[in-house]
Amino acid sequence: MGIPTVQVVPVPLGTGENASLAAWAARLRREKIRNRRVLLVQTPQLILDSFDREIALRRGYYNFPPTGLQYLYESLRGMGLEVTILNLNHELLKRVCDDPDFAASRWLEILGEALDRYAPSVVGVSCMFDTGIAALLAILGELRRRDEAVVVAGGLIPTYEWQSLLDRDLAHFTVAGEGEERFPFLLGLLFDGVWGEAMGGIRFCPDGEIMESRGVTRAAAFDRDLVASYAEVRIEEHHLYGSLNPFARMAGLASTPFAAIQFQRGCRARCTFCAVPGLMGKGVRSRALATVLAEMAFLI
Ligand code: SF4
Repeated sequence: MGIPTVQVVPVPLGTGENASLAAWAARLRREKIRNRRVLLVQTPQLILDSFDREIALRRGYYNFPPTGLQYLYESLRGMGLEVTILNLNHELLKRVCDDPDFAASRWLEILGEALDRYAPSVVGVSCMFDTGIAALLAILGELRRRDEAVVVAGGLIPTYEWQSLLDRDLAHFTVAGEGEERFPFLLGLLFDGVWGEAMGGIRFCPDGEIMESRGVTRAAAFDRDLVASYAEVRIEEHHLYGSLNPFARMAGLASTPFAAIQFQRGCRARCTFCAVPGLMGKGVRSRALATVLAEMAFLI
């Protein structure tokens, strides 16, 4: 299957929330967009307050690749953007393990170095687990303190905690649910003032009033070829600084390179305590076998 590209066409501003979205995006475009660079940041999925260097040196922390950001990376193909991924989970573990003088408490410096080096106009920050909430808040706080780029928060935590993030002015936008269609829609608006099909689920707070875009809210097409995105991930060294899960360590596979390949998304059940249905919509969707096999062949 070919890589989907995003079709952007000029549309009227519309009315109501979408007109406010267009106006807010136009204002941010004037104030923040100075190049076509987008930085996608994976939040550390660690409880940083209890970080232990010895555990890191024994590869005891999880260090799975930023698969969700790889999907976003591919979804932006064809928009003329320069996109890069910063997996702060991996970079933090790598820095701590490789440099005995680097204290984990200095982890935000890694973000600062990337921002100075790359100078993105837009930073997208993803957080998928409760363990990353403190780090997410620190990242967003640092980005808003610097006030250089448009800040977009997405993933599981911002899907549910959007009000708190916007009330505290920690992001210009939050994107609910899967981002493969909403994020390109938002970036089309931010960079070029154009959009294709209006997308719902984008929340923003331009002047003290939180609003949400109106438009389609379908589950995103995710049968994408991720091979090119691995150039951003350095998957071959993830096993050197952490583990995929406890079972791999118990099975003595700590020295074996690993990757995480997504076959399906969603769930048939709708357990009321679970975040999966709200994040991914109803039902189960599968990637095409050929896409999965091509990714496996590349990784092996
Ligand atoms: S807990 Fe969530 S993922 Fe598990 S069966 Fe229930 S809805 Fe599905």
